[in-house]
Amino acid sequence: LESARFAELCTGCSRCLPQCPVRIDIPWLNTVLRHRLAHHDHVGQTSRSVPSTETAAAPPNQVTITANTLTDRRTPLREVFFGRYDAAGQWGSRFAALVHAGGKFSLARIALEKIFGVDRRRRLPTFAATTLVQAASKMTQPEMMLDRPGGLSCTTGKKAVLFADVFTNYGSPARGLATLKVLRRLGLDITVSETSPDGRAPLSQGMLATSAAQARGTAAMLKSYLEEGRDILVVEPSVLSMFRLEYKHLLDRPQERDIVHWLRARTFDPCEYLWQLLPACGLDAVRIFPAARDPHSNRIFFHGHCQQRTIGAAAPTEALLRAAGFDVVTSQVECCGMAGSFGYKKEFYELSMAVADDLFAQVRRAEAEGGPRTLVASGTSCVEQLRAGFARPVLHPMELLATIVQAGRITEGQDHDYRSL
Ligand code: SF4
Repeated sequence: LESARFAELCTGCSRCLPQCPVRIDIPWLNTVLRHRLAHHDHVGQTSRSVPSTETAAAPPNQVTITANTLTDRRTPLREVFFGRYDAAGQWGSRFAALVHAGGKFSLARIALEKIFGVDRRRRLPTFAATTLVQAASKMTQPEMMLDRPGGLSCTTGKKAVLFADVFTNYGSPARGLATLKVLRRLGLDITVSETSPDGRAPLSQGMLATSAAQARGTAAMLKSYLEEGRDILVVEPSVLSMFRLEYKHLLDRPQERDIVHWLRARTFDPCEYLWQLLPACGLDAVRIFPAARDPHSNRIFFHGHCQQRTIGAAAPTEALLRAAGFDVVTSQVECCGMAGSFGYKKEFYELSMAVADDLFAQVRRAEAEGGPRTLVASGTSCVEQLRAGFARPVLHPMELLATIVQAGRITEGQDHDYRSL
């Protein structure tokens, strides 16, 4: 198993997946190997005479995912720290000001490096004092109805729910609120789910039992929305990718086949959903979101999230932005190098920044002619990496569109008054 240490270098970007002609799921194989390595290391530290039945008996591409999350007790502290983002978010949002202030002190960063192996040159993302679910609950029904622009309503009868994934709920609620407001402007019947850990964070740390338990909880919660006829919108691409790619591994009981199929078929990136919705409603992106009204500039640099590209949700985002009239330069790198927690870990920081160098160079080249561009990225970790490289704001595509809608009057055959978002 020692010779499988290469798996610890795998960022899980999934870009090898569409390249493999026989569709070998290399990211999943590496996840299983990381899981076994964690067990192997634990056994090595505690009792070398006790063999791991899982590592000894199971073939290399299979793992028995037990429902007992206690099996993840062998996971090292640093991996638990990153793998339980949901717990960190719950507490972090309660003490958001304290966490924010603490992150500015180099002493606190040194302590994080010593205890959890987080490189001191990184700043951990902060938490929002008001979560997405809390902010959405304060939007009253009359406000929501007033948001509808007369004449622009989308009457397809579609209904949706915005899944409050833990990264958006605790870390970046503004992206979720922007999505909610843009889609409500179009008259879509959209609500917000309760938050629920979906398994992405523990999966990235090889904590398979915790990941499967979280996936089961989220699938059960979302099932009721699917039964209501609602499509599920997911802001964070790595979570959307879970539904489409990894849940089939995690929810492997025969009675779970249907929910895995539904989640795969009826979960969408918000821009991907909008790109399908506009023509169905006979609406034109350039009329609804005219880039010329962007208060900053219509020149943007868009970096699609690696897993978003693999599942085919980055191309519709780019198409939507171009159709709205943006002058788009798209990054040509496969991954930003941050890849969730990968770039925060002390031993991978240099590698993470080396991977990002190409992305940073592409931004600089794009800005060499004609001046600055608004940086736009869909993934939480891509945003953090671009911020680390350029120390300036990076917007989610839905925040960009919400800014335009907010900026003023928009015409669709005639003028309409828009209230501020
Ligand atoms: S780093 Fe990305 S491309 Fe390389 S093996 Fe892992 S998932 Fe595949």
